[in-house]
Amino acid sequence: MLLDTRTLYLVAAMVAAMLGAMLLLFGKQESIPALKWWGSAYLLGAASVAIPTLASNALGEWPALALNAAGYAACGMVWNASRVFHGRRTNLPGLFFGAFAWIATVMTLPAEPAALRLTIGAGIVAIYAALTATQLWSDRRRTLQKRWLAVAVPMLHGFVLMLPILLGYLLLQDDEKFSGSIWTTIFAIELVLYAVGTVFIIFMLVSERTVTANRTLASIDPLTGVFNRRGFAEATSRVIEREACAGRPITMLIFDLDHFKLINDRFGHPAGDEILKLFAVILVNTLRIADLSGRIGGEEFAALLPCSLEEGVITAGRVREAFANSGIVVEDGPVDTTVSVGVAGGPAGTELEVLLVAADAALYKAKRGGRNRVEVAKELPLSLETWRRRTAGFSRQPRPGLNPSGVGR
Ligand code: GH3
Ligand code: MG
Ligand code: MG
Repeated sequence: MLLDTRTLYLVAAMVAAMLGAMLLLFGKQESIPALKWWGSAYLLGAASVAIPTLASNALGEWPALALNAAGYAACGMVWNASRVFHGRRTNLPGLFFGAFAWIATVMTLPAEPAALRLTIGAGIVAIYAALTATQLWSDRRRTLQKRWLAVAVPMLHGFVLMLPILLGYLLLQDDEKFSGSIWTTIFAIELVLYAVGTVFIIFMLVSERTVTANRTLASIDPLTGVFNRRGFAEATSRVIEREACAGRPITMLIFDLDHFKLINDRFGHPAGDEILKLFAVILVNTLRIADLSGRIGGEEFAALLPCSLEEGVITAGRVREAFANSGIVVEDGPVDTTVSVGVAGGPAGTELEVLLVAADAALYKAKRGGRNRVEVAKELPLSLETWRRRTAGFSRQPRPGLNPSGVGR
């Protein structure tokens, strides 16, 4: 099949320009700086391919060199876009390095044989492709599992460009043969595929990030920054499953700030909010990294610890003590910051709801026993159903923020 190389390059440039404009507009609309970088890179790259192709040999030596250099700068911009996307700063020396390297090549190497210059040019593009792939790869654990595609496409791009060099083909060709060779056709086709494939990846990354951000927002309590009820339920069910598989025990802690209504009444709601934030900080700082915590109601918090009941009780005591000793003083005087804690432990595989119910019952006992204390659930209901049947008829006011089957619904 005979494909006209100039036409192919023009098609590649047009596709890149359209995609660039789309990325730029989308980046502006959604305020995503990385997309603006990507879009501008595509537009610059498209211009650097289209203008020399259209002008054929009519361009002067310097304008042609400047356009070539702009093409390498566009590759540098794509790499910088991937840096910006991952919250890193732009690397301007790196961005222009390829362009300067090309200018230096043209100024120092003789025009003939052209294959040597082309080899260096392909090498520069391949380096930028490898840098882009490395950037995307280094951040793979943060958010994404499907990163392999984001890495494979720039790597493939670099590989295709380097292939004739690796095969020793380019260096062996004389210029006449090279300009009409199969490689220029392959490069042009690859350019179109790369441009389209990269945009596909960019949108995949952006959408994945947006979904992750929304999911995080929906599971975090905006006041305290810890999990909300929904986030806590989701995270704990995963931990429970994991611990059940490993055959390890788990312990649930429920915290309810004492006389919080009085604190609000006496010091005002904003002061109450500050105390809630303080408690969350104390809780998170006291727990270990593997422990989960969340705000499951107005002034109620819960924590799931992958540990034995005894260890859980010790941790609960530490939180209680730290909160009691926080020494909060407002304009109107010192604030009594105390918390009651209910603790329930269970063997591997205990259901979340069973633990919550048992811990809640222990908390109730702590409240009745005078508050500012830790109580342990003596027995764990064998199942939620048995517990419901046994407690049916008992008159116990359900406390706000927790109903036995409410978590996760
Ligand atoms: P107890 O020791 O029995 O737990 O008494 P309490 O006053 O803490 O319990 P109660 O359930 O009567 O009151 C809980 C209070 O928590 C009432 C509500 O105004 C307050 N509260 C709930 N959510 C928030 C919040 O986001 N900010 C503030 N400042 N107060 C809150
Ligand atoms: Mg309460
Ligand atoms: Mg309370």
